[in-house]
Amino acid sequence: MAEDCLFCKIIRGDIPADKLYEDDEVLAFRDIAPVAPVHFLVIPKKHISGPSGVTEEDDKVIGKMMRIGNHIAKEEGLEQFRLVLNNGAEAGQTVFHIHMHVIGGRSLNWPPG
Ligand code: AMP
Repeated sequence: MAEDCLFCKIIRGDIPADKLYEDDEVLAFRDIAPVAPVHFLVIPKKHISGPSGVTEEDDKVIGKMMRIGNHIAKEEGLEQFRLVLNNGAEAGQTVFHIHMHVIGGRSLNWPPG
Protein backbone atom coordinates (compact mmCIF):
# COMPACT_ATOMS: atom_id res chain seq x y z
CA MET A 1 0.00 0.00 0.00
CA ALA A 2 1.21 3.49 -0.81
CA GLU A 3 -0.15 6.26 1.40
CA ASP A 4 -0.82 8.85 -1.30
CA CYS A 5 -1.82 6.51 -4.13
CA LEU A 6 -5.36 7.08 -5.44
CA PHE A 7 -5.96 3.42 -6.24
CA CYS A 8 -4.55 2.28 -2.87
CA LYS A 9 -7.12 4.64 -1.32
CA ILE A 10 -9.84 2.89 -3.33
CA ILE A 11 -8.51 -0.50 -2.17
CA ARG A 12 -8.57 0.71 1.46
CA GLY A 13 -12.11 2.06 1.02
CA ASP A 14 -11.03 5.66 1.71
CA ILE A 15 -12.45 6.67 -1.70
CA PRO A 16 -15.61 5.05 -3.11
CA ALA A 17 -15.63 3.13 -6.38
CA ASP A 18 -18.20 1.25 -8.44
CA LYS A 19 -16.70 -2.19 -7.79
CA LEU A 20 -17.26 -5.09 -10.18
CA TYR A 21 -15.03 -7.73 -8.58
CA GLU A 22 -12.85 -8.04 -5.50
CA ASP A 23 -10.77 -10.72 -3.84
CA ASP A 24 -7.63 -10.66 -1.72
CA GLU A 25 -5.34 -9.96 -4.71
CA VAL A 26 -7.34 -8.10 -7.35
CA LEU A 27 -9.95 -5.33 -7.57
CA ALA A 28 -12.00 -4.25 -10.60
CA PHE A 29 -14.11 -1.09 -10.77
CA ARG A 30 -15.71 1.16 -13.36
CA ASP A 31 -13.60 4.01 -14.70
CA ILE A 32 -14.87 7.35 -13.37
CA ALA A 33 -14.53 8.93 -16.84
CA PRO A 34 -15.50 6.17 -19.28
CA VAL A 35 -14.34 6.52 -22.88
CA ALA A 36 -16.74 3.82 -24.15
CA PRO A 37 -20.04 2.23 -23.07
CA VAL A 38 -18.03 -0.29 -21.04
CA HIS A 39 -14.82 0.92 -19.40
CA PHE A 40 -13.49 -0.59 -16.22
CA LEU A 41 -10.10 -1.00 -14.57
CA VAL A 42 -8.50 -4.13 -13.10
CA ILE A 43 -5.76 -3.57 -10.52
CA PRO A 44 -3.66 -5.67 -8.17
CA LYS A 45 -4.03 -4.85 -4.50
CA LYS A 46 -0.25 -4.84 -4.27
CA HIS A 47 1.07 -1.37 -5.10
CA ILE A 48 3.07 -1.63 -8.34
CA SER A 49 3.84 1.72 -9.97
CA GLY A 50 3.12 0.58 -13.51
CA PRO A 51 3.90 -2.10 -16.10
CA SER A 52 7.65 -1.42 -15.84
CA GLY A 53 7.47 -2.04 -12.08
CA VAL A 54 6.36 -5.66 -12.53
CA THR A 55 8.77 -8.31 -11.23
CA GLU A 56 8.83 -12.10 -11.34
CA GLU A 57 6.91 -12.33 -8.09
CA ASP A 58 3.99 -10.57 -9.81
CA ASP A 59 3.62 -13.12 -12.63
CA LYS A 60 0.61 -14.77 -11.01
CA VAL A 61 -1.36 -11.63 -10.20
CA ILE A 62 -0.72 -10.06 -13.61
CA GLY A 63 -2.13 -13.19 -15.27
CA LYS A 64 -5.07 -13.14 -12.89
CA MET A 65 -5.83 -9.54 -13.87
CA MET A 66 -6.33 -10.67 -17.45
CA ARG A 67 -8.46 -13.65 -16.47
CA ILE A 68 -10.70 -11.50 -14.26
CA GLY A 69 -10.88 -8.79 -16.93
CA ASN A 70 -12.03 -11.37 -19.48
CA HIS A 71 -14.63 -12.71 -17.08
CA ILE A 72 -16.10 -9.28 -16.31
CA ALA A 73 -16.04 -8.27 -19.99
CA LYS A 74 -18.21 -11.29 -20.73
CA GLU A 75 -20.56 -10.40 -17.86
CA GLU A 76 -20.81 -6.90 -19.32
CA GLY A 77 -21.86 -8.39 -22.66
CA LEU A 78 -18.59 -7.79 -24.48
CA GLU A 79 -17.19 -10.28 -26.95
CA GLN A 80 -14.79 -7.74 -28.45
CA PHE A 81 -12.83 -5.31 -26.34
CA ARG A 82 -9.46 -3.65 -25.85
CA LEU A 83 -7.03 -4.07 -22.96
CA VAL A 84 -4.73 -1.11 -22.27
CA LEU A 85 -1.87 -0.67 -19.81
CA ASN A 86 -0.20 2.73 -20.00
CA ASN A 87 3.37 3.02 -18.75
CA GLY A 88 4.65 6.53 -18.04
CA ALA A 89 3.15 9.98 -18.53
CA GLU A 90 4.08 10.16 -22.21
CA ALA A 91 2.11 6.98 -22.80
CA GLY A 92 -0.90 8.46 -21.01
CA GLN A 93 -0.43 7.06 -17.51
CA THR A 94 -1.96 9.41 -14.94
CA VAL A 95 -2.34 7.07 -11.95
CA PHE A 96 0.90 5.39 -10.90
CA HIS A 97 -0.58 2.14 -9.61
CA ILE A 98 -0.65 -0.43 -12.39
CA HIS A 99 -4.11 -0.81 -13.92
CA MET A 100 -5.50 -2.63 -16.91
CA HIS A 101 -8.21 -0.75 -18.80
CA VAL A 102 -10.93 -2.91 -20.33
CA ILE A 103 -12.74 -0.88 -22.97
CA GLY A 104 -15.55 -1.92 -25.30
CA GLY A 105 -19.08 -1.49 -26.54
CA ARG A 106 -18.17 0.66 -29.53
CA SER A 107 -15.78 0.57 -32.50
CA LEU A 108 -12.25 1.52 -31.50
CA ASN A 109 -9.66 3.04 -33.81
CA TRP A 110 -6.12 1.80 -34.17
CA PRO A 111 -3.48 3.11 -33.79
CA PRO A 112 -4.41 5.28 -30.79
CA GLY A 113 -3.78 9.02 -31.11
P1 AMP B 1 -4.28 6.08 -16.97
O1 AMP B 1 -4.45 7.37 -17.74
O2 AMP B 1 -3.93 4.90 -17.84
O3 AMP B 1 -3.34 6.25 -15.80
O4 AMP B 1 -5.70 5.74 -16.39
C1 AMP B 1 -6.18 6.22 -15.18
C2 AMP B 1 -7.67 6.06 -15.21
O5 AMP B 1 -8.17 6.17 -13.91
C3 AMP B 1 -8.39 7.12 -16.06
O6 AMP B 1 -9.12 6.48 -17.10
C4 AMP B 1 -9.29 7.81 -15.06
O7 AMP B 1 -10.54 8.18 -15.60
C5 AMP B 1 -9.44 6.76 -13.98
N1 AMP B 1 -9.76 7.27 -12.65
C6 AMP B 1 -9.19 8.32 -12.03
N2 AMP B 1 -9.73 8.47 -10.79
C7 AMP B 1 -10.66 7.48 -10.66
C8 AMP B 1 -11.56 7.11 -9.61
N3 AMP B 1 -11.62 7.79 -8.45
N4 AMP B 1 -12.38 6.05 -9.82
C9 AMP B 1 -12.33 5.38 -10.99
N5 AMP B 1 -11.50 5.67 -12.00
C10 AMP B 1 -10.68 6.72 -11.84
